[in-house]
Amino acid sequence: MSTHQDLLKKSGLRITQPRQKILDIFFNTSGPQSLSSLENALSKEMDRATIYRNLLTLSDKGIIHGVTGNQGTQYLLSSSTNHPMHPHFKCLSCDTLSCIEVNTSISLPENYSVKNINWLIEGHCPSCNSNIQ
Ligand SMILES: [Zn+2]
Ligand SMILES: [Zn+2]
Repeated sequence: MSTHQDLLKKSGLRITQPRQKILDIFFNTSGPQSLSSLENALSKEMDRATIYRNLLTLSDKGIIHGVTGNQGTQYLLSSSTNHPMHPHFKCLSCDTLSCIEVNTSISLPENYSVKNINWLIEGHCPSCNSNIQ
């Protein structure tokens, strides 16, 4: 069984062709994906609505997570399905988005439930920094 199939199974999701195709892209490219980048890559295999529906299912299960910025929502593969909340780093030169692992937890007052955290750090990534120097 492949990693993707295993991941889907562990999350209680059926292994479907669209889910596998979408996860393939996340595993084969390290960067984030948006609905339109996936639509471009998968235009011959499925329509936008199918991609969108599956993105929501995958992020609902924590397999991927969405980061909303000024270019819309971008999705990243989670390091685990109980991926703790974490900030993202956005490079101002090359626009790459990466997950930043932190060991903090946010405690909210009672009865608050979190759906999204928009926690973005902007700056320059290592490869852009080395180009500047
Ligand atoms: Zn950069
Ligand atoms: Zn992340």
